[in-house]
Amino acid sequence: MEIKRKIAILGSTGSIGTQALDVVRANPDKFTIEVLTSNTNADLLIAQAIAFDANAVVIVDTTKYEYVKQQLAHTDVKVFAGAASLTQVVAFDAVDIVLTALVGYAGLLPTIAAIKANKTIALANKETLVVAGELITKLAQQHNVNIYPVDSEHSAIFQCLAGEWNNPIEKIYLTASGGPFRGYTREQLATVTKAQALKHPNWEMGAKITIDSASLMNKGLEVIEAKWLFHLTPEQIDVIVHPQSIVHSLVQFTDGSMKAQMGLPDMKLPIQYALAYPHRIYADFPRFNFMDYPQLTFEQPDRTTFRNLDLAYYAMRKGGNMACALNAANEVAVAAFLADKVSFLGMSDVVETAMQKIHFVAQPSLEDYIATDLQAREWCGL
Ligand code: MG
Repeated sequence: MEIKRKIAILGSTGSIGTQALDVVRANPDKFTIEVLTSNTNADLLIAQAIAFDANAVVIVDTTKYEYVKQQLAHTDVKVFAGAASLTQVVAFDAVDIVLTALVGYAGLLPTIAAIKANKTIALANKETLVVAGELITKLAQQHNVNIYPVDSEHSAIFQCLAGEWNNPIEKIYLTASGGPFRGYTREQLATVTKAQALKHPNWEMGAKITIDSASLMNKGLEVIEAKWLFHLTPEQIDVIVHPQSIVHSLVQFTDGSMKAQMGLPDMKLPIQYALAYPHRIYADFPRFNFMDYPQLTFEQPDRTTFRNLDLAYYAMRKGGNMACALNAANEVAVAAFLADKVSFLGMSDVVETAMQKIHFVAQPSLEDYIATDLQAREWCGL
């Protein structure tokens, strides 16, 4: 088995990006870096470009272009700036696989460009499928492009499905840790702070996804992501809270048999599975010890307290541009919560209001998605 893959990492200075570079560093014979990109973290981007001998970098913040260019002047790294450059670098001939580790809606256009350039996608940007899952999956089919999930739950489902491609799925269970506020009442949630919300019990992640995890919106987005990745109906997707985060998700087949994928929570595993697929390569991550986890427990999510899960199910069932509106409003709500402008429970109200106000489009084009995203953000009024 020989793996030689040239990788573009969109969002290389974030949580997923830096962990992906750990995987590349541990496997220099298998993976090389073609492209690295960052929104604003110029210094880390420069250091990464030198350390991994990147062919090109993009600094999205154009005010930092001169600085990056000057710092890399002694190398042959090509330097680009601005969000529009992201859609160009993913199409470079040398790139085999594009890891989309951008946060939020910003991942949509670069992912479309990568698919159109026939690049394999390692998808860490779930919002792309939430916003425009129908368009993305159709486009990937047309271009014969594979989308490999990096999200740990979806990687788990994907791993359970290996060797089962023709066997009908009855349903899947996405596991949820429940986040830092599992078991809280609405009264307790009314006063939680962002410092509390940013402390996830099991996973080390970026700020946006950590808040989404605390509010269960992350699981809602993942439900929609799973629908598109695995071609499921809403009725086939269920969520179960599993506080230990050892069972990463489960598939139930039509004979009632269930398969689960397990392991200690570490994002580097799903990252490397997506980059090396269909191969498994050695990793020196700590191994699971049964004696550390004598009990694995499961419980129903509290959908009354954490309203976001049902808002996401509603958006998924409604289809069209509804999930795009949900996602846009949620991005605004999370940013506002992090800026102390909205309370923790207020985030769901922002999302619900935007979903009520949105002009519903049943069969949206890319232009409709772009317009919906803009409108939903405006209507949040934050
Ligand atoms: Mg996940």
